[in-house]
Amino acid sequence: MKIILIGPPGSGKGSQARLIQKNFNIPHISTGNIFRIMMNEETSLGKEIFKYMSEAKLVPDDLVIKVMKEYLNREEFKNNFLLDGFPRTLEQAEQLENIVDIDIVILLDTHLKIVQKRVLTRMICPYCGDVYNTVSYSKVTCNSCGATLKARKDDNAAIIKERFKEYELLTKPLIKYYKDKNKLKTIDGDQPIEVIFDTIKKMLVSDL
Ligand SMILES: [Zn+2]
Repeated sequence: MKIILIGPPGSGKGSQARLIQKNFNIPHISTGNIFRIMMNEETSLGKEIFKYMSEAKLVPDDLVIKVMKEYLNREEFKNNFLLDGFPRTLEQAEQLENIVDIDIVILLDTHLKIVQKRVLTRMICPYCGDVYNTVSYSKVTCNSCGATLKARKDDNAAIIKERFKEYELLTKPLIKYYKDKNKLKTIDGDQPIEVIFDTIKKMLVSDL
């Protein structure tokens, strides 16, 4: 099954993506990951990406599309993949349509208040990247590697609000696009992780 996961920053996309990958054996693909893989493989596209990344510039849309086209056509993604963080715009969605046929688009519909609460209580392991929430995790060290957890320095209420607004502006047309194609499934993203995943599980099983 070919799945797209959409939701604002802090909606728990990453957690759901990991759960879907683990339970359904569907490979999780994020643009950041693809960029890293292609740079490591030193493909010609990888080298182009490196030019932007090394100068901390945003990778332009047409290059992202080229990268997606090359990557999603690989044998390992012939039947299954889960996209997270792409497409971000209507234009990207239209381009993606020419590359692959998406089966289902899951929207984690989450309110700003909930996103702020989640993100502001978030701690990250600087060593392995594991993310914890102080509401549900009371230790100060990482459960996986033992390093001392840190708050992310770019997590503050004003920045979160700004990112949320940007997300809404960019993705509104995207949501309508998939709704019109009858591919959109909306889940209340304000719910706890396990409840959301239960809903996703039922959706995917009935669609398989
Ligand atoms: Zn760790």
